[in-house]
Amino acid sequence: MLGGATSSVLALTPFHHTAFRNCWSRWQGVYRCPAPCQDECGMPELPDIVVYIEALQQRIAHQRLERVRIASPFLLRTANPPLQSVEGKNVQRLRRIGKRIAVGLEGHLWLVLHLMIAGRLHWRQPGVKLTSKQTLAAFDFLHGSLLLTEAGSERRASLHVLQGDAALAALDPGGLEVLEARVEGFAARLMAENHTLKRALTDPHLFSGIGNAYSDEILHRAQLSPVAMTQRLKDEEIERLHAAVRATLIEWTDRLRAEAQGQFPEGVTAFRDGMAVHGRYSQPCPRCGAKIQRIRYASNETNYCAVCQTGGKLLADRGLSRLLKQDWPRTLEEWESLRGAKP
Ligand SMILES: [Zn+2]
Repeated sequence: MLGGATSSVLALTPFHHTAFRNCWSRWQGVYRCPAPCQDECGMPELPDIVVYIEALQQRIAHQRLERVRIASPFLLRTANPPLQSVEGKNVQRLRRIGKRIAVGLEGHLWLVLHLMIAGRLHWRQPGVKLTSKQTLAAFDFLHGSLLLTEAGSERRASLHVLQGDAALAALDPGGLEVLEARVEGFAARLMAENHTLKRALTDPHLFSGIGNAYSDEILHRAQLSPVAMTQRLKDEEIERLHAAVRATLIEWTDRLRAEAQGQFPEGVTAFRDGMAVHGRYSQPCPRCGAKIQRIRYASNETNYCAVCQTGGKLLADRGLSRLLKQDWPRTLEEWESLRGAKP
């Protein structure tokens, strides 16, 4: 039976090209992804980026960047200052800007990396050859080379070379740093606009570093519906959400740090063993045992537990499907506006 199900899934789902964006097979919880992404699905979020930066801190802080080798013409998104201007400069500091990694060098220069969905970092021996098609760039230091790779065929990861803190600030979408915010500030940001919780948490202009995976985990921990509207939340629910955001991000950062065991973090993925709901469609909820549900849209899905989060209500049931004329909204925004149109 399993074999039959597998072949029909493979036949029906053209996921070879979009697998790292829409890792269908991982979401089934049973099938292995046949695409090169394998374990590299999902955009790195705050915990992943923090652990990357800590690993970089140990390896490249106060080290001289000898050379930058770019293998993909799509990677570099700025022309001025020239890339060569960073060569021979010492790394002075490292920062996270939303989901970006910013490397500060002498002369107020910044190298800013956005890994997007399939970009990953690796630490290799100095001067390693760039043989893989997935390698986009190498940043060479005396003691090692930082490699940037991107799985799949789309080239979305980006590198900006900037001069000055103002240029760096201009790249910041301005999301609230949730681990630094008190509940009042968190509440004000949350209720500034009326959105579904899922959208509010993942909007980089509202909150920094939270994406699809950790927002699922946060909402499950807070026992709140992904489609609850932010301006209708009670004070007690906002406090619970604030606590869940902090606990989820801190716990996962600690966990990923411990997993890395001082090594450079490899195998960064949005689908982690130990997640409660994200990527666990149809598996039992760790709190109540009910099957995890999902809401699907074009290139992503939201996972939740109906018993723990929505009072037992299925958000993506057949009735809603018919209502949508057998189609799902293509984006969270579209889905949200459709909900907004309902009484
Ligand atoms: Zn549950």
